[in-house]
Amino acid sequence: MNYQELVDVYIRLDSTTKRLEKTEIIANFFKTIEDDSLYDICLLILGGVFPAWSDKELGIGDKLLIQAISKVVGISKISVEEEINAQGDIGIACEKLFSKKQQTTFFLKPLTVNFVFSSLQKLADISGNNSTNKKISIITELLSLASPSEAKYISRTIIEVLRIGVGEGIVRDAISQAFNVDKKITERSHMLTNDLGLVADVAKKEGENGLKKLTLTPGKPVKPMLAQLSSGIKESIKEMGKAICETKYDGIRLQIHRKNNEIAIFTRRLENITLAMPEIVKLIEECLPHFDFIVEGEVIATKNGKPISFQNILHRVKRKYNIEEAIENVPLKIFLFDVLFYKKPMIDEPLIERRNLLEDIVDLSNDDINLSKKIIGTCENIPEIESLFEESINENHEGIMIKDSKEPYIPGLRGKKMLKFKAEPETLDVVVVGGTRGLGKRGDFIGSYLVALKDENDELKTIAHVATGLDDETLEYLTSKMKEYEISQKDNKIFVKPKIILEIAYSEIVNSPEYEIGYSLRFPVVKSVRKDKGLDDIDTIERLKSMYKE
Ligand code: AMP
Repeated sequence: MNYQELVDVYIRLDSTTKRLEKTEIIANFFKTIEDDSLYDICLLILGGVFPAWSDKELGIGDKLLIQAISKVVGISKISVEEEINAQGDIGIACEKLFSKKQQTTFFLKPLTVNFVFSSLQKLADISGNNSTNKKISIITELLSLASPSEAKYISRTIIEVLRIGVGEGIVRDAISQAFNVDKKITERSHMLTNDLGLVADVAKKEGENGLKKLTLTPGKPVKPMLAQLSSGIKESIKEMGKAICETKYDGIRLQIHRKNNEIAIFTRRLENITLAMPEIVKLIEECLPHFDFIVEGEVIATKNGKPISFQNILHRVKRKYNIEEAIENVPLKIFLFDVLFYKKPMIDEPLIERRNLLEDIVDLSNDDINLSKKIIGTCENIPEIESLFEESINENHEGIMIKDSKEPYIPGLRGKKMLKFKAEPETLDVVVVGGTRGLGKRGDFIGSYLVALKDENDELKTIAHVATGLDDETLEYLTSKMKEYEISQKDNKIFVKPKIILEIAYSEIVNSPEYEIGYSLRFPVVKSVRKDKGLDDIDTIERLKSMYKE
């Protein structure tokens, strides 16, 4: 299929904000695909070229793209930058510049979806000597064959900001609609495989029966099941009947996979951090000497055997060098709390069965590996659960988790079956979309950050500017990241790709026309930079509204 056909669909998707219309457009388009490009198209519509389980990234900065555009259009890099700043969007700027240039090549050889897809995939694998030139030459080749509208969407895809308002939910519904399969089955196979391209392919070729056969595979991470806030221990236990109550540790969540002899460790954002945590790999080899499993737990940093803030662990996750030194300076402890796969998928088993299995299979003779501390909670032993909470706070942990003992594990779900009860007031996880250069002492830094939440279509909507809670070190870090993720600049304002996640505390949620969302936050303060979280983890308007009501 020609890439231009996909671009025409992008344009139609761009022209409506209605979820149902977008779904219909995609479903109808899927039905027309006759060749083998459905997989590629699914991922391209989601703005990427790798399935969600893969941690591969294109990793192309604006500077490189600008260099390629300037080469293809035949103008200086400065002129390209000026056009981008004038348009406020690299895609629109590209389209404008391409429509002015003398078209020569693109009529000769139309771009196909497969060619665009495989060229972009190649970009992620280029490293080492001369890699910049190799990347520029791939992008230049692609752009020199592109029409103005194709150039618009290729450039946006390259910098990973497609902006057509299509999230996974819409593509999933479109697959169900196009191939006439039950939405629940599509949803489940998506959760288990984390690969919508594969789901679409199987739905098309094998229908519901094929989808039902898709399952978890050790080695491919799945989205973790997420927690909602408990409104109180008693209420939550009453609702669940019988719950597993556990200490809530303040670290980062790990999903640990073993397939044959290979151990892989993933974060909740599905990043593979195996190489950064060799001591955890060793621990797992020693204490879980079995083949083929997926277990989950929280890893925490310690000092003199006591837990310390989770920020200390983030340094470990990102570390590529001097790992031995880090292992000594920041010792880690892991607390396992779930098993998703053990010789076969376990997620459909009730939590209590999974926990029993975990207790059977882990050898706890090494102090650095534990199971989360747990008690079975019912209406009869509320004081015991309250003591677990107090004890956990006194030991520097965050609070407790309250989990329905009868429930299966549902990847990616933030439901009522797994709750958290914390001592601190609730915060919001937001993504930075822009910023304003500081004044006076902060003149060298981006001093104020424009942050956003997700709406029901996964589109980002701004909610506040936050400028407090930032020490010099954090400001320096954030400013450098803002430069790395820059999309455009105007006066003292900068707009960036949605990559930086902040945890924000605030005094109150108020109605406000000032921001896209219709609400704003009074006295927002940055509590932490959540390097362990991604766009999937940010809060939604729905949650904000329910917090506003409360
Ligand atoms: P939050 O990040 O505030 O949404 O809280 C949920 C997170 O708590 C999970 O994603 C885990 O990273 C973490 N956590 C800590 N201890 C546990 C536990 N015992 N069971 C489940 N999650 C836990």
